[in-house]
Amino acid sequence: MPDCIFCQIIEGKLPCAKVYEDDLVISFLDINPVNTGHTLVVPKSHYVSLFDTPPDLLQACIEVSQKVARAVFKGTGASGLNIIQNNFRSAGQLIDHIHFHLVPRNMHDGFFTSWPGKPYPSGELEKTLKKIKAEL
Ligand code: 5GP
Ligand code: ZN
Repeated sequence: MPDCIFCQIIEGKLPCAKVYEDDLVISFLDINPVNTGHTLVVPKSHYVSLFDTPPDLLQACIEVSQKVARAVFKGTGASGLNIIQNNFRSAGQLIDHIHFHLVPRNMHDGFFTSWPGKPYPSGELEKTLKKIKAEL
């Protein structure tokens, strides 16, 4: 995909701080990290989101994420790590080439520790469950 920044990195047309690479997946440091060592895991083929990426490629991404996350965790001396994967603008996706964020975490690092969860209004859980299950 010519206009895609990550495709240009994969093709070597743009530089990156490469952490890992194999036939299917590349991993490099995020240029604008939440915390030091924030790393991206990206399939080498251009797919936009979780929804259009083939399952075998997702599997490869998760396997690489596990391998690289171990290294990020140990290498940065972090005490925690989030894997985050954003789909579409409303979920914070800025680069339309699927990727997984590996974010090393420490206590009081200023990133989130919990999100603003709220209980369902009466009857809403059951309705929502029905709608989701109907799509499976
Ligand atoms: P998204 O918001 O799409 O889930 O995340 C995109 C991520 O890509 C952001 O964290 C951003 O800092 C990172 N990013 C954007 N452009 C570049 C780039 O040219 N090189 C690298 N290494 N990371 C980038
Ligand atoms: Zn791309």
